[in-house]
Amino acid sequence: MYAKVATDTALDRTFDYLIPAEMAEMAKPGSRVKVTFNGRIVLGYILSLTDRTDFDGEVKPIIQIIGNRPWLSKSILDLAGWMSAYYLAPIEMCLQAVLPAPVRSAGSNGFVIRNFICLPSCEAAVGLDHTKKLTQRKKRVIDLLAESGSMALSEFASYAHTTPAFLKKMSQEGLVDIFEKRIRRDPLAGKTYLPVTPPLLNEAQSAAVDIICRAVDTVSDRNAPSPKPILLFGVTASGKTEVYLNAIEHTLHSGMSAIVLIPEISLTPQTVRRFASRFGPVTAVLHSRLSDGERHDEWHRIFSGEAKVVVGPRSAVFAPIESPGLIIVDEEHEPTYKQDETPHYNARDVAVMRGRFDHCAVVLGSATPSLESWHNAASGKYVMAEMPVRASSEMSRPRTMLVDMRKETTGNNGVPPVFSEPLIEAIRERLSLGEQTMLFLNRRGYSPRVQCPKCGHVETCEQCSVGMTYHLDGNFLKCHVCGSEKTVPVKCPSCGNTYLKFAGIGTQRIETIARKLFPSARIERMDADTTSRKSSHEDILTRFMTGDTDILIGTQMIAKGLDFPNVTLAGIINADASLYIPDLRASERTFQLIAQMSGRTGRGIIPGDVYIQTMTPEHPAIKCASNEDYRSFAEQELRSRKELDFPPISRCTLFTFSGEDRDCVESFSNKFSVLVRNTLGPHAALRGPTPAPIEKVKSMWRFQLTIFYHNPSMIIPAMKRIMTTVRTQKKVRVSVNVDAASAF
Ligand code: ADP
Ligand code: ZN
Repeated sequence: MYAKVATDTALDRTFDYLIPAEMAEMAKPGSRVKVTFNGRIVLGYILSLTDRTDFDGEVKPIIQIIGNRPWLSKSILDLAGWMSAYYLAPIEMCLQAVLPAPVRSAGSNGFVIRNFICLPSCEAAVGLDHTKKLTQRKKRVIDLLAESGSMALSEFASYAHTTPAFLKKMSQEGLVDIFEKRIRRDPLAGKTYLPVTPPLLNEAQSAAVDIICRAVDTVSDRNAPSPKPILLFGVTASGKTEVYLNAIEHTLHSGMSAIVLIPEISLTPQTVRRFASRFGPVTAVLHSRLSDGERHDEWHRIFSGEAKVVVGPRSAVFAPIESPGLIIVDEEHEPTYKQDETPHYNARDVAVMRGRFDHCAVVLGSATPSLESWHNAASGKYVMAEMPVRASSEMSRPRTMLVDMRKETTGNNGVPPVFSEPLIEAIRERLSLGEQTMLFLNRRGYSPRVQCPKCGHVETCEQCSVGMTYHLDGNFLKCHVCGSEKTVPVKCPSCGNTYLKFAGIGTQRIETIARKLFPSARIERMDADTTSRKSSHEDILTRFMTGDTDILIGTQMIAKGLDFPNVTLAGIINADASLYIPDLRASERTFQLIAQMSGRTGRGIIPGDVYIQTMTPEHPAIKCASNEDYRSFAEQELRSRKELDFPPISRCTLFTFSGEDRDCVESFSNKFSVLVRNTLGPHAALRGPTPAPIEKVKSMWRFQLTIFYHNPSMIIPAMKRIMTTVRTQKKVRVSVNVDAASAF
């Protein structure tokens, strides 16, 4: 027998290896193996088994199979294979994506083993009758150990004021037992989650749970077709999480496991608590703040079947759960589900595909579904479950005020102020009532542009074609693309003018102004700059939860998933910020952000207000969002996408070309486009090549080409052929992003 092995080295193909007789039983598709390759020992996976090989030379044997069963299930292998074909990514990179790095690199040696001590078992203990012969010191050890029970050796040694060496000697005499135990590095260690009494479901929630449970029930029937994905369209605070929890409970009762995907940014302690307190120790939480050890151990806890509910971001879609019954993708519209490096997969779409391979139920939940999912539900590909009102009758819809910033410019040199009069009034009122406010602006730092008012010079990054953002704390300029920093020039480098203007607003500036406007208020800011320490995120939220903060200012970190009943005011400082970026989904994103921010208010019994500051109150995205009217927005937006033949009517793929020499990149992108046009002919519409929106990143010049098409099963293989013909390019890198999340 032979195995087709994909090694971890970048080659995008498999190689044949001989399966030695003694490994015949163990070698299965998905097995992790050690093989020799070009005289080196490398790791890889068996993708399939075969009884003949086309290779003429000497077929080398597999050296070792790691683990006692395949690390990748059949369906995960299929999923990796599908990703490789669909996202035009090398197979080894897709295999890398499905297993966390600490698991991959540790082999079977990633566990932490520690020595423990306990009293000997009963039979051996007979010998202990001769206690008289024992020294005082040994007797004390035995007494203490009887009291404490089994303990880690080193901890017991210090507790008993003795040394591990002395205890080891005692163990040789048969007086105590020392044994090895695998330690679990537990990300939830030291946290207790009290069980909560779940609320009684309302009618819409029960109906949604029923639809999901019926889909879960068909999973065990292998002859039934895979259940259709379910789109759970529920307004914010309609109680979607409660629906998930009930559906997972049903899944566990049926002897199956579940995965819940949550955007990293909303994977807050609050969310984790809701799952952990409902399902206890069978819950595994995966997020980017885990240490390598924790990640390794959590993966094995899932792999062994001990953990049955997995909560995590994007990559948790590959969690090796035993008998998958249900995969939930919360906030399915989130662009963060799209990985921004190869393979450029969208975890939502991978979840749908995994549902097919694993024959399990898939739920996509959102208050503002992506137009892709909305379109799929409308065409009958997905089943729709709708929850149109807030969960509890005590919660009412937030009231929305559109503040027309064009009317606020008087007395301010024609420049709109950061805070409009109505918003200031509303905040003052909340402060006097002891209620809380959240203020949102999706831009961190103090001011995004440092400009000379005399000659117009803007301070830009040396390596990237973007302006640098001024940061107040530390008084420096930072490039938000590459992260480089520099000091603020004392005069304009271009004309020598000694006065430079800080233009535009970021969250730091809002904080500064808010402190002046509301001197007695307790104000905090939450953005990437204030949450770099491991627990700072949790600390800020705890202070807000306990009422120690009156006003929380933040970026999209505060827009998502938070549930604080005393927040009765949300202010969106500049609703237009995301509206005029070059992206076919700009309106959709703006609608989503406003709807999410509105969803943060009025979650308790006091109704909430939302103030939306905008220069274009008549824009459909802003108007519909202010009425919480997703349906009208989706219909209008779909109509215009249809006119332009944009996704979700068509699909789009974005090619990015980059290199150090701008002319080289430009001419290559032109040649590439001609090749694409000649190959795909009338089956694809091309846009570009054009310079990318950020033309230079880390000293690399970038051009892009977007193609729109309708028939992926024909276009994608053709694109793959094109990519293989150009892969050898040295000076220009080509990257391909199928179903790009942001494109134009
Ligand atoms: P969503 O995820 O749709 O935004 P959540 O699941 O967070 O909504 O629920 C919003 C709030 O409503 C939570 O505080 C939750 O505890 C509460 N809630 C959910 N379902 C019910 C119900 N049936 N009765 C009363 N309160 C509920
Ligand atoms: Zn830069």
